[in-house]
Amino acid sequence: RSAVARKVRATFVTVPATLRLFFHDCFVQELGTGRRLGTGSMHDGLHYLDDNTSPAVAAALSSSPLEEFMLQHRRLGHISFVILGELYPNLFNKVRKEDLVCDACLYGKQIRSTYILSDHRSDVPL
Ligand SMILES: [Zn+2]
Repeated sequence: RSAVARKVRATFVTVPATLRLFFHDCFVQELGTGRRLGTGSMHDGLHYLDDNTSPAVAAALSSSPLEEFMLQHRRLGHISFVILGELYPNLFNKVRKEDLVCDACLYGKQIRSTYILSDHRSDVPL
């Protein structure tokens, strides 16, 4: 349980705000006060935040180093974390090594436990 909580804390940054997307523009509104924390506009089908956006909001909307590192891990076919760290040393230095856990890799490396050998054999066919 604590490992999951640690992973969630390392992955997500939360801000008490809502992001409202409209056809031509968007804005981030703080919950409770309704104050606008940032605005944005749409270009070529994507919403872009303006430069007036609060740094806390920008941090919450961008991905964390761990999230980026795990994305590259998956994109490169679940490459080993050590080799990926050599490819992206700046990103590797920003993540905690104990947070580098990939469930798919763990399942892939898992082996079935063997049956205990037995001297008892059936005398009759099934
Ligand atoms: Zn993996």
